[in-house]
Amino acid sequence: MSRASFFGRFVALGTRSDRNPPAADRGWPATIRATVTGYYRRFGSHDPFASTRRRLLAWNVLVIALIVLIIGTFVYLRVAKSRSEEVDQELQAAATSELVRFAGHERSEQETYPLEGADVFLIVSDTRGRILLDPRAASPSGFPVKASLDLAMAGRPNFASVAIKGTSFRVYSAPLYDRGQLVGAVQAGKGLADQERELRDLLVTMLVGGLVSVVLATAGGFFLVELALVPARRAFARQQQFVADASHELRTPIALIKATADVLGRDPDQPIRANQGLLTDIEREADHLGRLIGDLLQLARLDSGQLEAELVPVSIGDVAQEAVAQVQRLGAARGLRLGVTGQTDLWVMADLGRLRQVLLILLDNAVKHTPSGGSVQIHLQRDHGAARLVVADTGEGIAPEHIPHVFERFYRVDKARARADGGVGLGLAIARELVELQGGRIRVESVLGKGSSFIVWMPLARG
Ligand code: ADP
Repeated sequence: MSRASFFGRFVALGTRSDRNPPAADRGWPATIRATVTGYYRRFGSHDPFASTRRRLLAWNVLVIALIVLIIGTFVYLRVAKSRSEEVDQELQAAATSELVRFAGHERSEQETYPLEGADVFLIVSDTRGRILLDPRAASPSGFPVKASLDLAMAGRPNFASVAIKGTSFRVYSAPLYDRGQLVGAVQAGKGLADQERELRDLLVTMLVGGLVSVVLATAGGFFLVELALVPARRAFARQQQFVADASHELRTPIALIKATADVLGRDPDQPIRANQGLLTDIEREADHLGRLIGDLLQLARLDSGQLEAELVPVSIGDVAQEAVAQVQRLGAARGLRLGVTGQTDLWVMADLGRLRQVLLILLDNAVKHTPSGGSVQIHLQRDHGAARLVVADTGEGIAPEHIPHVFERFYRVDKARARADGGVGLGLAIARELVELQGGRIRVESVLGKGSSFIVWMPLARG
């Protein structure tokens, strides 16, 4: 079902008394606004979805906050790791270049060292711990880091992190060999203040960004939650309207039966024969009530998904013929010509009983709304992989303003007349639900004073 028809249908059913144009034509924000305001107008300040809305919003914010937290933590840890790897590589490179220099005897006390970063310092110590070289002579106090240097002297190059006077440093120490002989160790070090500041800035930026995202997510959440609740609100409003309409429809025949019984009871000695008319009234109202309850039950089953269609290949021509035969007597009594024309050999996928019910609803309506001398015809033809069945009458037709509503529940063009005909305004609503249940589509075309065509498309059976 397309979005337009889906929402058009919800709006049509949900706001029966508003008679708005389909909300889908007015864009999304207007759709939501119309639904929400229409809803509040109808149900007042009591919103049965309030707790659902709160819960949805809370979940929305929680999920977004969690996502932001996870992504933020991931990014922070990645940056922190790559920065510390960079420092380690820098230190290792500085120390290694010194080792190479030492091994090549290129060293001289005056030499200026091309150290990687101005903040990298190098210290060379002999095996007894005497500083042989401190090219910048300004390596921070507390250096070299003895534990790391000793480990290097033991032949184990190593990294170490130390804090000296509240400042973090990273050092790398490696053993120093001269012609295969251990002569000392080299230690490269670097203060981490810059890295730490960079990471702190990143953390602050991410915290602010995360907070802003959560605030925006909360604001957007209000909108999204309202959007998500639109179908639920419509369904709820539709259900409320349905219950109200059904109660009203049920009350009328019961009131009539009761009033008639009252009249009968007023003169208990009268023979039944004298009150035949009243008894017929009771019978008619009881029939009406029975039909109404049957229809309501069927709609309730359709709504709850209990009604299933058992789709099998069905000869739509045969079903049409049978249905026409069934209303033939009624049609003939009204002086109507009934018949089936077109491609009567088409097979469709349908539930036989439900398809029959649809055709009977359409034929019954056509017969009821066509004056004597007119015709009611079923025309069949293949139409793009579907069978197109048209129930066309030459009756009174339907005025354009009523056409969009005739498939709504309890909608009758002429209430008083429909009631006299035994109609409750549920026939076409049921017909449409049944057609859609079988994977078909139904629509109406009508010209006031000329006649109506109810068109049903059913999927063709393969082969
Ligand atoms: P009802 O049970 O009252 O017939 P339906 O749902 O079958 O209710 O039809 C809804 C309304 O649509 C009817 O009240 C009638 O006014 C109109 N209608 C349905 N079929 C036709 C038709 N073939 N010609 C003219 N009006 C029709």
